[in-house]
Amino acid sequence: MKQLEEIKGLGPKTKNTLQRLGIVTSEDLLFYYPFRYDILKKSNIEELKQDDKIVIDGLIESVPSVFHINRRLDKMNFRFVIEGKLLQVVIFNRAFLKSKLSVGTTVTVIGKYDPKHNTIVANDIYLMPLPKTPRIDPVYHSYGGIGGKQIRSYLEQIFKEDICITDYIPEGIREKYQFMDKERSLKQIHFPTNTNSLKSALLRAKYEELFLFMLKMNYLKQEKKHDCGLKRELSFQKIEMFINKLPFTLTDDQFNCVKEIYKDLKEPRRMNRLVQGDVGSGKTIVSFIAMYMNHLSGYQSALMAPTEILAQQHYKKLEEIFKLYQVNVAILTGKTKAKEKKEIYEGLRKGTISIVVGTHALISDGVEYQNLGLVITDEQHRFGVNQRSNLKNKGTTPDILYMSATPIPRTYALTIYGDMDVSNIHTMPNGRLPIITTLKKNSEIRDVLESMYQELKKGHQVYVIAPLIEESEKIDLENVTLLEEKMKKAFGRFYQIGVLHGKMTPKEKEEVMLNFEQNKIQILISTTVVEVGVDVPNATMIVIFDSERFGLSALHQLRGRVGRNDLQSYCILISDIEKERLSILTKTTDGFKISEEDFKLRGSGDLFGVRQSGDMQFQIADLKKDFSILMRAKEDSEAYISNGKIEENEILKGYIEQIKILS
Ligand code: ADP
Ligand code: MG
Repeated sequence: MKQLEEIKGLGPKTKNTLQRLGIVTSEDLLFYYPFRYDILKKSNIEELKQDDKIVIDGLIESVPSVFHINRRLDKMNFRFVIEGKLLQVVIFNRAFLKSKLSVGTTVTVIGKYDPKHNTIVANDIYLMPLPKTPRIDPVYHSYGGIGGKQIRSYLEQIFKEDICITDYIPEGIREKYQFMDKERSLKQIHFPTNTNSLKSALLRAKYEELFLFMLKMNYLKQEKKHDCGLKRELSFQKIEMFINKLPFTLTDDQFNCVKEIYKDLKEPRRMNRLVQGDVGSGKTIVSFIAMYMNHLSGYQSALMAPTEILAQQHYKKLEEIFKLYQVNVAILTGKTKAKEKKEIYEGLRKGTISIVVGTHALISDGVEYQNLGLVITDEQHRFGVNQRSNLKNKGTTPDILYMSATPIPRTYALTIYGDMDVSNIHTMPNGRLPIITTLKKNSEIRDVLESMYQELKKGHQVYVIAPLIEESEKIDLENVTLLEEKMKKAFGRFYQIGVLHGKMTPKEKEEVMLNFEQNKIQILISTTVVEVGVDVPNATMIVIFDSERFGLSALHQLRGRVGRNDLQSYCILISDIEKERLSILTKTTDGFKISEEDFKLRGSGDLFGVRQSGDMQFQIADLKKDFSILMRAKEDSEAYISNGKIEENEILKGYIEQIKILS
């Protein structure tokens, strides 16, 4: 197969950009799938109803006029003649096309037809007339200046030669479903000839992806069945004493979780439990109690947090609580200094450290535990399967506890986490008032500032999530600075304003966080979701700019940063679009409901709040749309494993070996 270097028009700069997309070889490029297909088949305008999709060519009749609504939104319209019929075309964020749209040119418009207003609300304009026969156009995401045209040209060159690619679908299954061969299917996906072949090609690609995924899941599940856990001597009395000394009473759900974990830990079978509960429902303390139990039975615990700040925060709380019991707690992150790191490594190896909290650093190669008995991952969806399993295998067979604030709809949980026991925390700690959520437009910023002022006046604190433009850290920074100025102008005389953004060093971030925690800063502006994974009960308002860019579950998580004590808290979502979707959040604070809605609306892509959720990333399959394929793949892979067929299949054997090494 042609190498990337041999492709014409693909220079070092493009190569770099492709690399950032994870495309390093020409094989990778073959799997860079279009995200959508446009079928260019002329619509019959007479047959169309209100809001039907329309694809039509016509003549531009007037010079397009452009309105800049705000920095991120522009609107263009022009008159358009279709076979003698005059219409208006409206399109957003295509102002850059204006110079190409001169009066008298023929273009193709794709969009929604609105006969009532004699308008087409377009989502794309092709600068050419429609072809005579229907044509299917793959549409690729453009990234760093690389668009569909370029991708297609590279692919054309690759497909000129024979491509040779591993097919993971076993022969028997291939025959059962009469799948087309892999090379042909890839060619169809990038250069479709007709809808039927394209459909079969996509089905095959999705099946392969889901089959491998389910094979991996089922394999790991089967392996886990035989896992023996640790034997422990544990009296509940001591645990109860620990619980009684806490500054608050556990909720019933928390207490049930504790009891379930206690049972798991006492049983010789290895614990593999997920604690699901909304943000603020109090999962952390449950995990602390689990660590105490583990400590009582003489083992070390590791708590893995997704970010540095969260790790710091857990560490502080751990120290506070465990000081009373003379339990040695340490923190290990990527930023821990070499000397300190060496000491911690030694403490873990010798067993003088009982509890360690940290980030990915916990799973780096140098870390060895004397007797790791419990591994807890917080916000587990942010870690890939591989990372999680790396950690657990540092000890013999430590028990595993996952904590997640992103509830997964039941059916999917059964499929994906079928091998886990689940504890749910449904109720919030007593005295919590539901957060009041409102939607505001950018033009209503005055109202927003006024609401902020109301909270600040009461001595409370406010989070502001800054608008963000993806893929451009520089603009990102400008945005924050701009917002900071705005806030300073409004509040600078009376209140302190702090900023958190990705370009700051951990030390700088930490300092800002600390100042916010100690109420030296009243308004905290932040660019990212992750950095605010913190617990400051005096913060009672969160303002989220450009909220449309988040999934509902992610917004729900963000909103959970407030409402952390018995004060009334507020969340203001600012957005000029997607009112309907966002309004779901104004109506419910039930994380399970929200995740169902999110799932219905957006599919699985964003199900776990964060897109880069490792093991849940599919290149072509979509858990929601392709659920029936998933179920097939699940059954097929189960049968395949239980019939012992993997042993006969060199390709899948290799694949499984790889998983084994990684776990
Ligand atoms: P999450 O489930 O999002 O991890 P946390 O564990 O951070 O939530 O808990 C949120 C806040 O609620 C913390 O400040 C914690 O100390 C407090 N909290 C936890 N359990 C209780 C309880 N039973 N009663 C009162 N406050 C609680
Ligand atoms: Mg938490």
